[in-house]
Amino acid sequence: MTIAELKKHGHTATCFESESMIGGTWNFETSSRTSVYKNLRTNLPRELMAFTQFKMRPADDPENGSFTGDTRRFPSHAEITGWLKAYAEEAKVNENIRFSTEVTNCVKDGDQWAITSVSDGKESLDKFDAVCIANGHYEAMVKPTLKGEEVFPGKVAHSHDYKCPEDYKD
Ligand SMILES: Cc1cc2nc3c(=O)[nH]c(=O)nc-3n(C[C@H](O)[C@H](O)[C@H](O)COP(=O)(O)OP(=O)(O)OC[C@H]3O[C@@H](n4cnc5c(N)ncnc54)[C@H](O)[C@@H]3O)c2cc1C
Repeated sequence: MTIAELKKHGHTATCFESESMIGGTWNFETSSRTSVYKNLRTNLPRELMAFTQFKMRPADDPENGSFTGDTRRFPSHAEITGWLKAYAEEAKVNENIRFSTEVTNCVKDGDQWAITSVSDGKESLDKFDAVCIANGHYEAMVKPTLKGEEVFPGKVAHSHDYKCPEDYKD
């Protein structure tokens, strides 16, 4: 979305994405950072969740065609990933993204910003006039130590690590 808006205003934009595909935390299948779980559906209806300029139409909408969706108002994480991918294609932002490239340092260098990144073990340095940081904020857990935790006989887990109900069977 940020890249699309910058391009719309005539800027040249480069995005560094450490994962191999679009979707961020919604990429349940592939992201190493995600807090999403198997049966997660959105807590917002599709009408509110979608971008104004790129609707999230249900599969039975005759105007649909932008993604493979389902008919539920509160869609699954898979549908959100599909919708984000469709948006990236429509907004033509994939060409601006360096996938599987992790930013390891970002410092001011005179009037510019120096960005160090690593891809496939190879380090690169790029300079830009401005930086927008959109690295999410649900990856690092805040895991307090609970009083009595050490004597609790069950499993103590953070919601970040909850992935599927089968893990809690019996
Ligand atoms: C369990 C859960 C449920 C949620 N449900 C909803 C919901 O129903 N509705 C809603 O609107 N919102 C929901 N959210 C909020 C959700 O986080 C936002 O909707 C949105 O996905 C955040 O987007 P983002 O781009 O800020 O972050 P992210 O989706 O986390 O994307 C950040 C990206 O930055 C990349 N990155 C991070 N560090 C680096 C680095 N050093 N170098 C390169 N790339 C890097 C990551 O790989 C990732 O792709 C939910 C969040 C969680 C965790």
